[in-house]
This record gives sequence, structure tokens and C-alpha cells, in this order.
Amino acid sequence: MIAPQKETHHNWIVRENFSGTDIYLAQAKTILNKATGFMNSYDFTLNPYRGCQYGCSYCYAAAFSPDKNRRQNWGNWVIVKENAAQILEKELARWQQKFPNIAPKIYLSSVTDPYQPLEVKRQLTRSLLKVMLAYQPTLVIQTRSPMIIRDIDLLSQFQRLRINLSIPTGSERVRKDFEPRSPSIKSRLQTINKLKYNIPVKANYDIRFSVTITPLLPTFPEDEINFIQQLTVVDRVVLQDFHPSNNNTLTASTRKNAIALKDKYAWWYGNNKHSYQNFKQKLQDYFTALLADVEIMEGKAGFGFD
Ligand code: SF4
Repeated sequence: MIAPQKETHHNWIVRENFSGTDIYLAQAKTILNKATGFMNSYDFTLNPYRGCQYGCSYCYAAAFSPDKNRRQNWGNWVIVKENAAQILEKELARWQQKFPNIAPKIYLSSVTDPYQPLEVKRQLTRSLLKVMLAYQPTLVIQTRSPMIIRDIDLLSQFQRLRINLSIPTGSERVRKDFEPRSPSIKSRLQTINKLKYNIPVKANYDIRFSVTITPLLPTFPEDEINFIQQLTVVDRVVLQDFHPSNNNTLTASTRKNAIALKDKYAWWYGNNKHSYQNFKQKLQDYFTALLADVEIMEGKAGFGFD
């Protein structure tokens, strides 16, 4: 889905262990990566960390681990780009010099969660937001963490901002199977509500909210309506199919695990196409019945700002 990141680190040092995760500190040479492929509607992707403590079973980003060992241990290591804010300041200043009248489009983040648990302590994402405010980029933030609420004071100052909350299922049981370390579905739905109702609406500011159901995981029938109902708080729902099993380009080390889970949920994945279309139809029907102003977008198109 995303082009591999350029290698920008040297002298990795294991300094600490945070909740079972090995933490490596590194000095990044660059922080804004040219956005390509799936992300090519942006100028840059921005990843303050490499690796992700959430370690979701289906995560494509594991395929971009720096070595085989870390690929196999996806979720158990994180590289902290300690100097990210300083490098970002330099790179944005350079952009401004080159394009004084064009704000860059930035996607935070493509191969990590910028609000994974470590961010409580490191505050690296917060430091990047502070730097970006002076440059007012078009910014999209992708996360599954309620920690983003901490930064409402900064988020409220961006003029063109979309927040994508990842919620791939409406069933907590399914969430615990596919992404056991991640925040609960309930807390994520509360998060999107808090963001929506606490980031002030201002004239000439363009603030938008999405829920990304990517990849679409099973939702038990008894949870479906409640889940869909709660999605009406956002202006966009993004759907994406699970990685196709014959697609080797993004085969992550965690893939076996994810495939075993797909077998467990054969009632859904036995006819994947049907389940996907069925869920999409239910979303459409419900939003239409409620006159909800929510667009349903699929795949790459849904990840753009507009
Ligand atoms: S939160 Fe995102 S980046 Fe992190 S493991 Fe899950 S899918 Fe991958």
C-alpha cells in the first residue's frame, strides 16, 4: 500500500523497555518522506516513529521493518526519531522558501500510529504539531488512539485538518482477536465524538473527520446497527477490503496470524466479497434513511483530504 521508507537512521541504541516494547533511539536524517503510490495525493508522509506498539495482526507496515528479525517481532520494537521536530522545522522552512504560496499536504502517519502508548512519554507527535502550526499544511492524521484528545489545543489551530480514526470493526470480540493491544472500540467512538465537538468550528477553517474501516473486519450481526449508527458523527467512512490472500507485495510477518484469524471468521471471510458488499449496502441504506451527511469512500480515494 505504501512505498518503503528510505533508510534514515544510524547508531540505534536500545535504551529502555516500555511495556514490553524495545525502544531504540535514533537520529533521523530526513523526516518528510515524499508521498508515492497509495499516498500520492499528498506531498509527504510523516512518521515520528518506526514500528508500532499496537502490532495489529493484519498490519502491512510490518513488511517495511528494517530487518527480518524486527519484521517477525512486529509490535515489540519502536524506533524513536528523537530529532524529528528539529528536522521537520528545517524541511518545512526549505519547502516554504521554494513554494512560498503553497502549503504542503502531509499525512501523519503511514507506517506507524503517531499516538501509540509511547507518545505519552515522548510527546514526539505533539512536538511535530507545534512545528507544523507555523506552516499551516493540509494535514491528515491517522490514528486509533484516544490519546489524540490530549492535543485538541493544537489541533484546533490547524486551518485544514482531517482526522481519520481507525475503527475496523464494531465488535469488541473481533477487535481483541485481530488487534488485542489496541484501544477498545468504545473508546475510539468516544474519541471521534470528543474531537468533533471540542474542536471549534471557525470561519475559513476546514476541519473534517473520518472513520477508516480499513481493513473491514467482521462485525457480529448483533453489533452492526449500533456501530453504523455511531458512524453518523463523521463526514466520511472509508472502507477497504482485507489484503487479498494472493497479494504478496505486502505480505507481513504477522500475516500467518491474520490468515489464521480469517479462518476463525469463516462465516464472514468465506464469502469476502459478499460480506464487504453487504456491509457497504447496510451503511448506504442506514445513512440514506437517516439523511446522514456521510460519504462512503473506498480504498485509496478515501484516504485523500478531499
Ligand atoms: S496501529 Fe496501524 S501502524 Fe500500528 S500496528 Fe496497527 S495497523 Fe499497523
